[in-house]
Amino acid sequence: MRDKRSQRTEEQIQQHNADARVSMQQLREEQSEDTRAERNEVIRLEQRQSRRFTVSRRRTNDQQRQQVHCAFTSDSFLHLVFQYEPDIEYYANSKVVIGALDKECPHCHVLKFKNELPGMYCASGKVQLPEI
Ligand SMILES: [Zn+2]
Repeated sequence: MRDKRSQRTEEQIQQHNADARVSMQQLREEQSEDTRAERNEVIRLEQRQSRRFTVSRRRTNDQQRQQVHCAFTSDSFLHLVFQYEPDIEYYANSKVVIGALDKECPHCHVLKFKNELPGMYCASGKVQLPEI
């Protein structure tokens, strides 16, 4: 091998080096393509996982909404009050709409919600609190 190398002409050496450069360049390109393909694959998997998470999250929300709806139709509002779940979107149920705080008590002039009982706060004028 050493003898062969020493007997090469300058032209043969140049050609050999050029060939080596070309094959190294090809190898680098193949590797970078592999790396790019790997990176794309990782991104694709991450996107798929994220989509799966979103879908399962949406399903969970739907199930929770369904549970809340069932709970509301079974007239157990009191039960729900003591088992409050922060993840459940109670406001999504139409029965939860309580309206604005715009009904004024004719006795004590406090503002109340539409469905609050008339005797709340001042017991229909029986209780009179001093001004603050
Ligand atoms: Zn009142």
